[in-house]
Amino acid sequence: MEKKNLDWQNLGFGYVTTDKRFVANYKDGKWDEGALTEDPNIVMNECAGVLQYAQTCFEGLKAYTTKSGHIVTFRPDLNADRLISSCKRLEMPVFPKEKFIDAVSAVVAANEAWVPPFGSGATLYIRPYIFGINPVIGVKPADEYQFRIFATPVGPYFKGGAKPLTIKVSDFDRAAPKGTGNIKAGANYAMSLHAIVTAHQEGFDENMYLDPATRTKVEETGGANFLFVTKDNKVVTPKSDSILPSITRRSLMVVAKEYLGLEVEEREVYFDEVKDFAECGLCGTAAVISPVGKIVDHGKEICLPSGMDSMGPVTKKLYDTLTGIQMGEIEAPKGWIHVIK
Ligand SMILES: *Cc1c(COP(=O)(O)O)cnc(C)c1O
Repeated sequence: MEKKNLDWQNLGFGYVTTDKRFVANYKDGKWDEGALTEDPNIVMNECAGVLQYAQTCFEGLKAYTTKSGHIVTFRPDLNADRLISSCKRLEMPVFPKEKFIDAVSAVVAANEAWVPPFGSGATLYIRPYIFGINPVIGVKPADEYQFRIFATPVGPYFKGGAKPLTIKVSDFDRAAPKGTGNIKAGANYAMSLHAIVTAHQEGFDENMYLDPATRTKVEETGGANFLFVTKDNKVVTPKSDSILPSITRRSLMVVAKEYLGLEVEEREVYFDEVKDFAECGLCGTAAVISPVGKIVDHGKEICLPSGMDSMGPVTKKLYDTLTGIQMGEIEAPKGWIHVIK
């Protein structure tokens, strides 16, 4: 199979149309078999539930070419589980777990020519999503849904090394205490756009959201969970019901404990403690970990001891170990790597 002639190392994070995508439809109370299609466009009614009331949720994962030449995905079962909880919270029909994993594999296999080669740093990003598609004008859940998965190649996240980020404590809230912060709803992202555009205009890379109820505890950013390292090398991540359970963060906590022998803690993290941490990173599928060098709270700067030049030492070890597992260079815990071919 011949690969597409792309400049893999210099790809960005933009949408590139690939050959095939998966589509399944939910109607009369059940999902059809679904199929691969070449058509990237969707035709829907002007009054579709997703357009009027944002009834949609999504997932994001990647396919990698390993050192030995296999094409694999990383823990797709957890993406299936998370999509199920998102659907339940949004009164949408769940897409069965086994069918989800099969459909992800089918899309990757059908777009094999677009899976970046090992060593390029690029990956194939996979985007599953579900939305209400029939006309809905009175506020209620749609009766008909579409589930789709497309794939698009994305370039290396860190070109020329990871540059630590400068983030600000946001004046906006991301998620209410009993709201939808813990599911991957499109609406959470719509709400975060003004906050991120504002932060960028002020010269910051990202927002740190605090818990809306007390504004004293660290939650997460718009699209990544926090991971902190204490001065005595303990790995700490905030616990809250309104944080999106990042698969990367959960995996990194296992790596910290089982591979690096570090103590790990998932607990409430007060903003007042942040000044005492040695390292800080943002975890998500896109970057695995982006190091944070500086956190600014209304003009007051917290400069992490790891500095603005490179990742901190523990963050770097976590990053190297997890990416090594994903790329097949380090043995993975059982069930983490799903081989497609
Ligand atoms: C998707 C997402 C993450 C990262 O989750 P991963 O499973 O690691 O990709 C973190 N925070 C939010 C708000 C997200 O939507």
